[in-house]
Amino acid sequence: MIDFLTSVNNLPRKTKIVATIGPSVANPEKIVKLIQEGVDVFRLNFSHGTLEEHFSVLQTIRKYDSQQKEFHGVIGDLPGPKLRIGEIQGEEAELLNGAIIYIIHSTLPGSLPVITVENDMLFALLKAGDIFFINDGLVRLRILSNQNRIILCKVEKGGIISSRKGINIPYLPDSFPSLTARDLLILEAIKDWDLDFLALSFVRGVKDILTLRKKISPFKKPFSIIAKIEKPQALDEIEDIVEASDGIMIARGDLGVEIPVESVPFWQKKIIFESRRRCKPVIVATQMLDSMIRNPIPTRAEVSDVAGAIFDGTDAIMLSGETAMGDFPMESVQIASKIARYTENHADFVPDVQKIISDNTDLSSAISFGAWEIARNLKLPVIVTATYSGSTARRISRFRPNIPILAFSPQYHILRHLKLSYGVIPFSMNLCTEPSELIEEMKRLTLASRFGKKGDKIVITAGVPLQKSGFTNLLQVEEI
Ligand code: PGA
Ligand code: MN
Repeated sequence: MIDFLTSVNNLPRKTKIVATIGPSVANPEKIVKLIQEGVDVFRLNFSHGTLEEHFSVLQTIRKYDSQQKEFHGVIGDLPGPKLRIGEIQGEEAELLNGAIIYIIHSTLPGSLPVITVENDMLFALLKAGDIFFINDGLVRLRILSNQNRIILCKVEKGGIISSRKGINIPYLPDSFPSLTARDLLILEAIKDWDLDFLALSFVRGVKDILTLRKKISPFKKPFSIIAKIEKPQALDEIEDIVEASDGIMIARGDLGVEIPVESVPFWQKKIIFESRRRCKPVIVATQMLDSMIRNPIPTRAEVSDVAGAIFDGTDAIMLSGETAMGDFPMESVQIASKIARYTENHADFVPDVQKIISDNTDLSSAISFGAWEIARNLKLPVIVTATYSGSTARRISRFRPNIPILAFSPQYHILRHLKLSYGVIPFSMNLCTEPSELIEEMKRLTLASRFGKKGDKIVITAGVPLQKSGFTNLLQVEEI
């Protein structure tokens, strides 16, 4: 078993931790160590590394899970329309304020004043007056002209650039495909992989999600789709994007380049709220403990940022460079975990509940609200859910109760999806068809889980019949 019962207050951590895999941790010993430090979900970032490397990480996680009878989620993160400059002769160059730069289409290294790009769609889409950024927003350029496949631009804000740095074009035209040729190749290669989530980068609208859904439907795989919010266009239709996706990532790295950086905290709160209202898991990502890439302790501002995301109501916090390429990957997870435990035990999510269910008066919502309220009023130790699609557990999770939500399901992939949901602890169960049989089974399993002891009252909620997924209609209080 994981470190559930060893925490300060004998309760498991509720905020979930996502760790990005990279050179610092991509071997079986380190992956197992990350699991033992408390990582719930792993992110395989297909923008970096080879597919063979990612596949072997996935195999390590699945092997561990089947041996230990645990569940961990794995996200495959598709690059989407992420653009990059080509190689630069000498690896690095300084763009001075006011300099004139030429962008040309080539696979060869560029040398100032020429920068090369491999993707030639840029030349069809950009026009004079457009701005774009290189190197995480450090350098800003404005296009003076785009003719004969030469983009002439002026450096508005200078800085150092190096080979293959990212390009951000905030208002990338809609005609630029959301799934690039590279994404399609990746999808083809991973279609038989045992992944749980596919994250799509640079989502601009609902149609990007629908395109991906359609593309993967012949795979017949239960891949959940996570929309990475990092474009201004996505904010214009954020509610519909949340509705159309299975989960959301607030990708603050690129988002903070593409929209004014000072507006990111506002959008973080807004997106978390919209996700909770729709029972979709939400991840706050990027630079959470950034200085821990180099230092064994975080800055006070970083600690405050992690705590702030939890006070905002996020399901999960994500580590990127900290685990992928930092010097202190294990320490980063330990510290993220400590901040999460402390913060969630001092957060009060009760005032959120009315807002979250305000326009939500159907039976499933009413039952989940009832289960939450009963557990709270009667000070019950756990909320127990039986769930086929995961939706009953997520309906409870959105209230962020301060007691564990046990989720029993016969479906392993659903249990792995639930590793991303706040407060949910997944357990496998046999499929029960009769409601009375289901309740007896959940009482027995709750006792076996040690989250409830003999004589405790528990609240049980489920959607019955269990296989008919997507609703919640049973609520019962039982003594175990
Ligand atoms: P990335 O996404 O790490 O794939 O760029 C996260 C972000 O942009 O914040
Ligand atoms: Mn990004």
